[in-house]
This record gives sequence, structure tokens and C-alpha cells, in this order.
Amino acid sequence: MLAVVPPPVTVRVPAKVNLHLAVGDARSDGFHELSTVFQALSLTDEVTVGVADTPGVEVHGEGASSVPTGPSNLAWRAVRALAEHVGRDPDEPKVRVVIRKAIPVAGGMAGGSANAAAALVGLAALWRLELGRDDLAAIAMRLGSDVPFVLHGGTALGTGRGERLVPVLSRHSFHWVLAFDRRGLSTAQVYQELDRLRADGDPPRLGSVEPMLEALASGDPRQLALLLGNDLQAAAVSLRPGLRRTLRAGVSAGALAGAVSGSGPTCAFLCPDHDSAVEVATELSGAGVCRTVRVAHGPVPGARVIGGDDSP
Ligand code: ATP
Repeated sequence: MLAVVPPPVTVRVPAKVNLHLAVGDARSDGFHELSTVFQALSLTDEVTVGVADTPGVEVHGEGASSVPTGPSNLAWRAVRALAEHVGRDPDEPKVRVVIRKAIPVAGGMAGGSANAAAALVGLAALWRLELGRDDLAAIAMRLGSDVPFVLHGGTALGTGRGERLVPVLSRHSFHWVLAFDRRGLSTAQVYQELDRLRADGDPPRLGSVEPMLEALASGDPRQLALLLGNDLQAAAVSLRPGLRRTLRAGVSAGALAGAVSGSGPTCAFLCPDHDSAVEVATELSGAGVCRTVRVAHGPVPGARVIGGDDSP
């Protein structure tokens, strides 16, 4: 008798931007205590998971050549973790993962984490697992600090390493322009640079997150713009001084405000509406301060199936 092979499943998953990223001191485990507000953006990767005789990972699109396709690929680590969780052999998962990237690699937008979250959702659908979002979130948490958020999507307050999430009310859509840099930045190096800057002096730290939560609830981008803040920005700029020019150019082009996203080097600019975002993007791409620009809006949902058997 022939076994029925389920059709492949495709999952769309968002990038994140941090609207507020307050970094505490390094903990004994080396991680820093965070208080951060994430927003999921319409800049998305697509991950297809299918049954295959030749298991492995393929990566196409934005920055594909710098993404590992071996066991260190975060989507593959997610496949192995889920296989183990449901009692399948993690060394022999007969699946192929095809990643189509639009999220910049090592760009501070959680691209690798997004691929891990998408692989979890895709594989759970492919294998028809009876797992709830909470089960997936527990596995996501072990894969990386940003994985739970991109699984979840929307707008959320993250504490701990950023993995403990509470949804945040965000009225209306916000419009963003993203400036990708020519090369990525290592998240670990940016944290080390922040520790160095703090050992040398006392750079200013972000205050309470409350005003940001109020601005999100009001839905007023002008109020939000006044509060965008990232404690990692000084460290990212110290490692990549050209980002100062990029940040200035976005505001000169008409953005309400700009900030480095996460550990950078992507810069995110908040605009009053979609049309002004398109104008800012056009001017910024002509200014020669970044490799490429994208327009996006948020919040959007987290990782969800768009193809295969389970598509809506
Ligand atoms: P974060 O914002 O979560 O700190 P990031 O967006 O700065 O992360 P990623 O795009 O997640 O950075 O990439 C970080 C590193 O992870 C890359 O240098 C890359 O080699 C590795 N990596 C492993 N798997 C993937 C993947 N599927 N996509 C992108 N990078 C991956």
C-alpha cells in the first residue's frame, strides 16, 4: 500500500522592531535583563516545510549566502527540537525546509528567530500535531529570546531576556521605513560594546516603559515618535559610526523619528502615514546612506500557515 505524503506547508512570519528597548546590567548567566516593546512588521520571510528523502535546509533571497544551511540554521534547530518534543528521532527528521528571506540577516530584526518560529508552525501543521500555541511557545523560548515574539506577533511587552511576553494594546497601524545596512552586526558584539561603554562611563538609560504603552494605546504616531528609544543604539553606532548619518538622513527626509532596530544595524523610521513613508523611502534610497530601503507597517500577526493543506 502506498503511504500518503502530506503536501508541503508554507508559513509567513514577520520581522520585529523594538519600539522601546531598555537593557539592564549583565546577569550571572551572561544575558541582560530587558524591558522591551516589540512590534511585528509586514516585512516577512516565508518558510516551506515538506516531507523529503533528502532532508536539509535551502535558503534563498535577502542575505541568503550568509545564512548557514547546516545544523546551526535556526529553522533546522527548530525542526530538531519539535521532533524531539514529540518523540521522533531528531537526527533523522525526513523534512526539507526552504526559506525565502526578505528580513535582513544579522539586521536586528530577528530574522533567524522568525525562521525558527515559522519552522515550528509549519512542521506542527505538516505532521498534524495536536499542539497548542502554548506548547509551541515553550519550545520557542528554548530556541532563542526573540522566537516567542515572532511566533506571537502583534505588539507585546517582553521582559526577562525578552521571552516573557504580555500583549500590548496598539490602536491603528503604524508606518515604517527600514534602512538596511551593507553588512550585519553581531548581537553578541553589540551587547559587549554596551558593557564596555557602561564600564567607561554612564551612558543615559531609557526610563519607564509606561509612556510608550500609553502612546501605543492612543495610536498617535507623533506621540510614539517622541518615545522611540533603544539602549543598544549607542553601542551599535559606536561599532558602526555611519549609522549616525543614516539616522539623520531619515529624519531630514521627513520621518517623525528614527532608531536602530534591536542590535542593529537596520534603522527603523516612523512616519505619519503610508504615503509619507513612501516619500521618505524614496528620498532615503537616493541619499546613499544605506544598501536598500523597505516600507512596512505594523502590527501584523505572528507566524501563520499560508499554503499547503491547512491554508485558510
Ligand atoms: P536579533 O534581532 O534576534 O538579535 P538578528 O536579526 O540581528 O537577530 P539574524 O538574522 O537572526 O540576526 O542572524 C543572526 C545570525 O544567525 C546570522 O549571522 C546567521 O549566521 C545565523 N543564522 C542561523 N540561522 C539563520 C536563519 N535561518 N536566518 C538568518 N540567520 C541565521
